[in-house]
Amino acid sequence: MRYVSICIFLILLSTLSCESTPEKSSDSKTNFIIIFADDLGYGDLSSFGHPTIKTPNLDRMVAEGQKWTNFYAGASVCTPSRAALLTGRLPIRSGMSSNKQRVLFPDSHHGLPSQEITLAEQLKIANYTTVCIGKWHLGHKEAYLPLQHGFDYYFGIPYSNDMDIPDAILKEKGGYWEVVSDPKNNLIENFQVPLIQNNTEIERPANQNNITQRYSDETVKFIKSNKDKPFFIYLAHNLPHIPLFASEEALGKSSRGIYGDVVEEIDHGIGKIIQALKEEGLDKNTLVVFTSDNGPWTAFNDQGGSAGLLRAGKGTTWEGGMREPTVFWAPGKIAPGIVDQLGSTLDLFHTFSTLAGVPLPDDRILDSYDLSPLLFENQNAKRNQFFYYRGTDLYAVRLGDFKAHYITQGEYGLYGGKEIHNPPLLYNLNHDPSEEYNIADQHPEVLEAMNKLVAAHQEKMVMGEDQLKDRGGE
Ligand code: MG
Repeated sequence: MRYVSICIFLILLSTLSCESTPEKSSDSKTNFIIIFADDLGYGDLSSFGHPTIKTPNLDRMVAEGQKWTNFYAGASVCTPSRAALLTGRLPIRSGMSSNKQRVLFPDSHHGLPSQEITLAEQLKIANYTTVCIGKWHLGHKEAYLPLQHGFDYYFGIPYSNDMDIPDAILKEKGGYWEVVSDPKNNLIENFQVPLIQNNTEIERPANQNNITQRYSDETVKFIKSNKDKPFFIYLAHNLPHIPLFASEEALGKSSRGIYGDVVEEIDHGIGKIIQALKEEGLDKNTLVVFTSDNGPWTAFNDQGGSAGLLRAGKGTTWEGGMREPTVFWAPGKIAPGIVDQLGSTLDLFHTFSTLAGVPLPDDRILDSYDLSPLLFENQNAKRNQFFYYRGTDLYAVRLGDFKAHYITQGEYGLYGGKEIHNPPLLYNLNHDPSEEYNIADQHPEVLEAMNKLVAAHQEKMVMGEDQLKDRGGE
């Protein structure tokens, strides 16, 4: 009897304490926002060392949150990188990486297979409202669009903003490279990309001058209209992928030129999103992650970004191709600081699942680690390894501080230069983030451990059927 009385007292107390601290949002489930830039380099934010690009809103998130300095995209080009983020699986497993085509194109036949479980589908289990705004690039045919992969709403360009160049323009200018490498060709009509809302094309060509603004505004609109339910927003900007477009308000503002204008406009939109969270009382209950899908496309000179002190850029398995400027922000929950332990976009699947209380699928192999102990409890990361794939070939592996390159090759669009290294090149990334000093002969024991890790990984690898190879003919 006494036990029952104590229980009733405790229940009453908890009810009272709940009433005295009303939670405005989301029956206390954490909201998630991923802001994914396209082809932004490690060195392209002021808080990551850029001397002239000004990103005050991201810098504030860095000051209030965690700056991750060893955080990797799941691949070095758009399509496989996005598949990795949304499934928590290396894209070789889902068939979303290929040695025949590196990404999907407007004449590609397929996309992310329906049997893959996306982060959106995972969070639907916990009744999240799920929204995808921006670049999809996991299949533009209706069967593959976001609504068929667990998202309740979609607004965006379904692939890269440099696609759908009319044949007449290609002919007149001499080809793809001639069009995109000359900024004078950055005209909306030269890139006939569609803008899609849910499953319907609503604009073509998409007005890219204000696309960044519209993505940010769409995100703010969603936050304001869905503040009472837990939500997951996947905001994947099309920029600063070439061709570069900025709104009238942003154009000419940055001393870095139009690339700086574009990055600063993305940052400005982030300021509006954070402001909206604060106005709706959601800032204490939302985890915002900012990162990029792959490194800078350096083939386009100053129209592409900078990997800072990292080597090379987009398309390679050098650090500049896959290590991304990354910020986690959840004020009052995340202990601010700089995190130099390993993390990856692959890990968001596991991390968000933990935070939302959704069990992981047990019928497939995941490549996803739970980062929440590191984010919220200052504990050490579980991830101490990372596999760098180009297409379906494993080119390099990281184990702790060390990275071994078995194969290296040039950047995206600058083909050739494929080299097989036996023994592998070995770098200590903490001592030598620029991968300049090969120390393979000094550390045979490290190479031995690397070789074992690679052998075990490859022995168990089951490749998905190539979803990228089929193009054209329709
Ligand atoms: Mg990209």
